[in-house]
Amino acid sequence: MTSVTPGTPRTGPGGGGPVAVIGNGPVGQTTALLLARWGIDVLLLDKRPARDLVGSKAICQQRDVLDIWEAVGAGRRIADEGVTWTTARTFYRDGELFAYTLAEAGRPSFPPFVNISQARTEEILDERIAAEPRIDVRWDHEVTGLTQHADGVELTCGDRTLHASYAVACAGARGDDLRALLGVSFAGDSFDDRFLICDIRTDLPGWSTERRFYFDPAWNPGRQVLIHPCPGSTFRIDWQVPGDYDLAAEEADGRLDERIRAIIGDRPYEIVWKSVYRFHSRVADRLRCGRVLLAGDCAHLVAPFGARGLNSGVADAENAAWKLAFVLHGWAPPSLLDSYHAERHAAARENLDVTSATMRFLVPGTAADHARRRAVLDRAVTDPAAHPEVDSGRLAEPFWYVDSPLTTPDASRPFAGRPPRGQVPPAGPGMIVPDSPVTVAGRQGRLREIARDGVLLLAAPGADVAAAQRAAREPAAPVRVLRLAEIDPAGELTEALGARAGEVWIVRPDAHVAAVAAGADAIRPAVRRSLGLSGGGGARRPGAAGASARTPGAGSAAPTPPPGPAAAR
Ligand SMILES: Cc1cc2nc3c(=O)[nH]c(=O)nc-3n(C[C@H](O)[C@H](O)[C@H](O)COP(=O)(O)OP(=O)(O)OC[C@H]3O[C@@H](n4cnc5c(N)ncnc54)[C@H](O)[C@@H]3O)c2cc1C
Repeated sequence: MTSVTPGTPRTGPGGGGPVAVIGNGPVGQTTALLLARWGIDVLLLDKRPARDLVGSKAICQQRDVLDIWEAVGAGRRIADEGVTWTTARTFYRDGELFAYTLAEAGRPSFPPFVNISQARTEEILDERIAAEPRIDVRWDHEVTGLTQHADGVELTCGDRTLHASYAVACAGARGDDLRALLGVSFAGDSFDDRFLICDIRTDLPGWSTERRFYFDPAWNPGRQVLIHPCPGSTFRIDWQVPGDYDLAAEEADGRLDERIRAIIGDRPYEIVWKSVYRFHSRVADRLRCGRVLLAGDCAHLVAPFGARGLNSGVADAENAAWKLAFVLHGWAPPSLLDSYHAERHAAARENLDVTSATMRFLVPGTAADHARRRAVLDRAVTDPAAHPEVDSGRLAEPFWYVDSPLTTPDASRPFAGRPPRGQVPPAGPGMIVPDSPVTVAGRQGRLREIARDGVLLLAAPGADVAAAQRAAREPAAPVRVLRLAEIDPAGELTEALGARAGEVWIVRPDAHVAAVAAGADAIRPAVRRSLGLSGGGGARRPGAAGASARTPGAGSAAPTPPPGPAAAR
């Protein structure tokens, strides 16, 4: 028998019912929490019977991801429990090639990277979910069927049919069945070499604030080893091993112990977790299939060097959540969701390109690649000019929506590409705003915190604030105008932005700059474009949607308390 479980009433312009999030992994958890923060009801479905915290997988969480998690009340906790590291050291054979520290504009809330096991992150996110009445968690719900209608999605889970307005597929790497249901391809490569990962608990004084990468050490000749500090005196050691590597055999005859002792010496240790992985580079051809968005490992898989897997999945979650919320509240047209594919597919492609280049360096597939790797490493011993060519993984960074349909380019700030490792890029359209302390209506806060409450217009001195307010009042969405001179009297943020007199910086709900409007006439079209309104398909006023709209303090130059979602702060 098929029973029908209705969600919330089908009254919103985006279709009836809650949003279904398929997959309660970290990307699904984040998507659900962010949707709930925007006042959207969520059905969070997972095929597993319950959370089974196996191993640690992702350990390395990036600063901008911690900001996103902080918007749902988890970032500070994850950062405080994790290990902070700021220096990346790279070795070749028995010598150090170079070290660099990680740079960022402004005054960020969080360190560049925090190491913590994915298992612990998931537990912390679960606690936030348990405190969120809008999220209905259903374990033991495998989605085996999916049908789309004009106003919603029907999901088959065993003998149940669930209705949702939209769905976000966060079903992970093994979401083949779901991708097949959606008719999405998942082309790419799998790498032959494998990677042995051991999390070991031991005492390694001096190693706890730096990431170490060893090329061709005497104890793993011709291959590499990566070592990351983790909480609780634990270290993640990641060896590249041949495709026919046999962990059980190494454990049995003592070679695993020798392998570990070659690095840590005679000190006592305990293996907390161990596993052997083969890595993949794949991306789905479409990240929007009608009312279904694909996110996280379900949408893309990359080798973990550079920590771009979960970090980019969390950015997918945020991109999907604000756009779905804006559509469901009637603040933006459904066509805004097309920009989800445009932006996050481009992000996945960049991650694929970056990690594929890394894998070519780490696991050369041809004689020419082998020779190049060797030549670069040999040259890097004496020639610092070769250091940028030594590729141990470009660390995760937010994608810049420079070419997005939502971004208005600025001819006076042409995009010059990613800067070299360790250098801070200038701010501009498409990029994430630098974080900085701000004071809004007497309350101390952070720019990235208030940016996440809607669209933010930052008026530099001399800007036409009246024009900004008119532009802010027009769309149904929460759009707010703040004067930089009032929220940033010391000028720290203004300097980090590089804001010039007369400009209005338009910041999206995911803290990315949509435009820098230099004159009054440029503000309105840029605001409309940031919401996907320029192509027509108008949105409704707030309050009309079935989801509970949060009333914005739109158009206010004299700021009111943060207007947007009921964030856990
Ligand atoms: C060894 C290793 C190290 C890594 N290190 C890092 C790192 O340092 N930093 C980083 O950013 N990333 C890292 N990653 C990548 C990271 O672990 C993944 O990107 C992350 O787990 C993806 O999360 P997800 O929520 O998309 O998918 P998953 O965690 O796989 O969750 C998917 C969920 O969907 C459920 N599901 C599947 N199909 C269905 C269905 N049909 N119906 C209902 N539920 C379903 C599953 O049960 C599961 O709970 C690493 C990965 C590995 C393997």
